[in-house]
Amino acid sequence: MRHSILVVDDSGFNIKVLEKELEEHYEVLSATDPMEALRIAFEKKPSLILLDVMMPKMNGYELCKVLKGSKKTSNIPVVFLTSKGEVEDKVTGLQMGGDDYITKPYEVSELLARIRVHIRLKETQDQLKQLLEEKTRLIEQLENLSLHDGLTGVYNRRFLEEYLERSVEECKRYELALSVIMVDIDHFKDVNDTYGHQVGDAVLKKFAKRLGENIRRTDMLARYGGEEFTIVLRNTDVEGAVVLAEKLRTAVQEKPFEVDGHSISLMISLGVAGMKPGDYMDAAQLLREADILLYRAKDAGRNRVEY
Ligand code: GH3
Ligand code: MG
Ligand code: MG
Repeated sequence: MRHSILVVDDSGFNIKVLEKELEEHYEVLSATDPMEALRIAFEKKPSLILLDVMMPKMNGYELCKVLKGSKKTSNIPVVFLTSKGEVEDKVTGLQMGGDDYITKPYEVSELLARIRVHIRLKETQDQLKQLLEEKTRLIEQLENLSLHDGLTGVYNRRFLEEYLERSVEECKRYELALSVIMVDIDHFKDVNDTYGHQVGDAVLKKFAKRLGENIRRTDMLARYGGEEFTIVLRNTDVEGAVVLAEKLRTAVQEKPFEVDGHSISLMISLGVAGMKPGDYMDAAQLLREADILLYRAKDAGRNRVEY
């Protein structure tokens, strides 16, 4: 791929000269007006910008500051090419974000050599940026995979266990209540048997979404396994958790799940366990108790909450 260089100079003659010197190696874009230069820089994203300093309307320093201040163009190297050769001019140019400062008269071979250096540096930077973005994306994917359930997108059991342990410790330390709700779909096997496993999967997804819509942002919903879900409620006692459990039971029962033209009604059984300040339980005990209560709800006829 041929690199492109944007030459910005208010003198058409200077542009012509530079075009001649550069065109053998680069695609040359040009602008005699700073506004036009900005437009081309934004649209074409040149590999490098050669910038004159003295121009009407907006001088080269100001233009450089704008280019370096914008996310879209900040990574394009800017090389000043000017007859303004005082030390303070050079310092100003570099302070404005310029990458190099070449004074006229210049040697063409030196100009070309410097351009090559800056383009090489930019290429390395672009590659690093790309690698970093890729790495960030991969890390996000991995984190997501290890915390979330692949089918429903809610937290998985591994995360639930870690989260519950941390929550139990914190609630003990700050003397807060903590509750756990275990939810299991009643006779879910019938859904698979009647409509097939794929429809069953789709129902599970919608079911998890329905649960998620009915809890608070501070409540944590996880898939414990199969058609069993767990909700951890921090700063909530058993009485409060039972209110939510009843709300969930109603929210599931009152509206069938629509999948592939089938309207599938579900009911759920729930077990609610909790601890209040002064109670000493650990995460595993809480889960076990909620599970026992869930099975009591099943035994007592399903579609109910036990606590
Ligand atoms: P109960 O009221 O006693 O809970 O009855 P049940 O049929 O819901 O319970 P059981 O434990 O006998 O069966 C669970 C069913 O859930 C059977 C299993 O195929 C289904 N199931 C578990 N995980 C998945 C899944 O990821 N996808 C689908 N489609 N079905 C699942
Ligand atoms: Mg079940
Ligand atoms: Mg089950």
